[in-house]
Amino acid sequence: MGAPRFWRNTKSRYNLYGVRCGTCEKNYFPPRKICPSCRRASKLESVKLKASGEVVTYTIIHSAPEGFENQTPYIMAIVKLSEGPMLTTQIVDCEIEDASIGMPVEGVFRKINESGRDGPIYYGMKFRPPRSSN
Ligand SMILES: [Zn+2]
Repeated sequence: MGAPRFWRNTKSRYNLYGVRCGTCEKNYFPPRKICPSCRRASKLESVKLKASGEVVTYTIIHSAPEGFENQTPYIMAIVKLSEGPMLTTQIVDCEIEDASIGMPVEGVFRKINESGRDGPIYYGMKFRPPRSSN
């Protein structure tokens, strides 16, 4: 299936970009303008993150917001990336009963929502257990 041109060329939609502070050498996601540790000494630059990490904690969503009803139940997790930052994300390709704290996960791009047949389709990064563990 072809991807709409408007996002196909946008590399930031395919990759997970954070910022790296050159002063304290920590990575942050989502990107920010000032390093919370270094403040005015921040030397931030864009960095592509590996999008692999592990589940820190998770919750099963049974009652979804409008537009996501047909996806329930699903897993929302806090994932700690191997490079340090933590993010909240949906876990896909994983049975509810197989989810566990400490489970390794990797980033995957998935459709998030679609408004009508000709409307915009939103994609974003979700996470799943690595294929090799199946
Ligand atoms: Zn810093």
